[in-house]
Amino acid sequence: MESEAFEARVADIKGRAHGRWSELLPMLGVDKKILNKRNQPCPLCAGRDRFQYTDKFGEGNYHCRGCGPGGGLKLLQGALGWDFGTVLTKLEEHVGRGAPVSHHSHPRTVEPSADWMKKLAKRIWGEAQPIAQGDEVDRYLRNRGITLSAYPKVLRYHPALGFYEKDASGKSCQVAEYPAMLACIQGADGHAVTLHRTYLTDGRKALQHEAKKVLSAGFGGSAIRLYAADEELAIAEGIETALAVHLSTGKPVWATINAGNMEKLWLPESVRRIRIYADNDGDAQFEGQACAFSLARRLTRDVNRTDSRQVEVFVPRHAGTDWADVWCSRIGHVEQMA
Ligand SMILES: [Zn+2]
Repeated sequence: MESEAFEARVADIKGRAHGRWSELLPMLGVDKKILNKRNQPCPLCAGRDRFQYTDKFGEGNYHCRGCGPGGGLKLLQGALGWDFGTVLTKLEEHVGRGAPVSHHSHPRTVEPSADWMKKLAKRIWGEAQPIAQGDEVDRYLRNRGITLSAYPKVLRYHPALGFYEKDASGKSCQVAEYPAMLACIQGADGHAVTLHRTYLTDGRKALQHEAKKVLSAGFGGSAIRLYAADEELAIAEGIETALAVHLSTGKPVWATINAGNMEKLWLPESVRRIRIYADNDGDAQFEGQACAFSLARRLTRDVNRTDSRQVEVFVPRHAGTDWADVWCSRIGHVEQMA
């Protein structure tokens, strides 16, 4: 039993670290020179000019002509002299642990390949257009009290986006078409990872549930970079909340999509002052607050940091509200929030 739990723990860590090794390894203290993808002496077997870090499969992959291939877990042991247990503990401090990464509790179905999803995202993004005054997205955001004369380029308006549901056999079927707000989710390197969709109808979210969907899983640590970060950056969960924070503070802001992903958020080194605008989930197990403080904790205790970061967390006073609600009430917007 114990070994089974241990294996599950290792698999969980691997899943969380996937695609993030090039950022995690230096954070944990691996010399960046080792990761420069050039041939060099091996940090594991010390052979000369036979080691190369490739991250070929997003597993922190390397190859050594002396001691063979491996991944991030092995590299951490070899390069830092840590035992396996230490490696796992240190990684968990950065990537989290325990609760599942995504909602995969439904019966397993065959997931489309990453490549196919990328093509689909590209096609959908291409069909969409910049948000313009008076279109469905503009109307929706105005109804939420968010009035912008120019919209961030990472947001787009799609006039008629297919809405899919899985049938009994687990196959995706289009059940409707709605106008939608698309948001580009960017990974650590700034490239598009996937899309976030908010289905709309008549200036509101289209459905009670599932109006918001991320196109594909595996976007851990990514964000919707609404406004480019400088030394300062504000962080919020939802797009609407993030825009409200931008309107009220004038600061650059990123949206993390959900609380779980906020906890995993990747931030550039150059950001020194971080303001986290948490949702008040005082009516729902305090998840918003917990993840915001978890991010704050990680940002303030990152290893190998000479000058520290200034991190603040703001939580709206009332349970069940976010900063978009606060913004709405502040500007005297009387629209009842759905
Ligand atoms: Zn070697």
